Amino acid sequence: MYDVIIVGSGPAGMSAAIYAKRACLKTLLLEKQPMGGGQVLNTQEVENYPGIPLAGGFELGQKFEEHAKALGAEVKTEEVTEINCLEAVKKVKTAKGEYEAKVLIYAAGASHRKLSVPGEEEFAGRGVSYCATCDGAFFRNKTTAVIGGGDTALSDALVLAKGCKKVFLIHRRDAFRGSKTLQNRVEETENIEIILDSVVTEIRGEAAVREISVSCVKTKDERILSVDGVFAAVGILPYTKLLEGQADLDEQGYVVAGEDCRTSVDGVYAAGDVRTKPLRQIVTAAADGANAVAAAERYLTSQKD
Ligand code: NAP
Repeated sequence: MYDVIIVGSGPAGMSAAIYAKRACLKTLLLEKQPMGGGQVLNTQEVENYPGIPLAGGFELGQKFEEHAKALGAEVKTEEVTEINCLEAVKKVKTAKGEYEAKVLIYAAGASHRKLSVPGEEEFAGRGVSYCATCDGAFFRNKTTAVIGGGDTALSDALVLAKGCKKVFLIHRRDAFRGSKTLQNRVEETENIEIILDSVVTEIRGEAAVREISVSCVKTKDERILSVDGVFAAVGILPYTKLLEGQADLDEQGYVVAGEDCRTSVDGVYAAGDVRTKPLRQIVTAAADGANAVAAAERYLTSQKD
């Protein structure tokens, strides 16, 4: 029986493992992929983590895992398939076995939202991508389109502009949601063309992507752009299926939890992108890991009384 099982190895999960080990709690962290970092692994450059002016996402993710392991955290690469957390003993199943703990810290992160337009599924991996850091190199000297208006879309456009001949940045509104610093850089980059108030309505091609249809939401004008690649950066979907029917979720599927990460279920804490929160960043995910452990410690002490 563990004191704490942590599900997920992004910044929230790794931070929770670090704090749990320092609190001398018997801790198991279960990760899906054999590498810590979660979505950070797909981030080219991180410039807003305090104390580290510039880090590669991959290196930062590795550092999180090294730190947790150096403190003695037990990390197993086993995908969680089922969670039963309504009773006092939390049960977590993987393909290899079942684990039990007094506390569950759920930090499973999020996956990419789809554009949901014709051609997206057909050309996935043949020009349609959700990760500029992973796939950008395939489009050297080619033309690509990035869809979205958040930090991911802006930084993906900048990453791609370094190697691509031209990058269209297509956003459905007239203003970006991403940071002003990134917006300024995008605007200053000559080979990025910004197309606002517009949505992609279809992706077409033969063996690979050849063109996209783009519709202006205000005028309804339709134009066709010749592109070799489409990078969808339209947000994230929390991976909270495993808690459905147990912890309260909001209408978008995020686990309802406040700053202390407490969920509607005793002894269950939600940390990082899976939780209802105003700002999803590496630093806020890491903060959640710490807060979740602090709340878990209070819970464990109350159970002894
Ligand atoms: P996001 O902030 O949710 O932005 C998603 C963007 O996609 C929005 O601009 C949204 O438009 C647009 N969108 C959503 N659905 C769409 C659809 N069906 N068709 C067209 N456009 C659609 O997501 P994100 O950029 O992936 O960022 C997620 C979180 O990670 C954010 O909190 C972000 O700050 C953080 N992040 C941080 C860093 C960093 O710290 N360096 C890097 C990347 C991301 P609207 O604006 O109209 O809603």
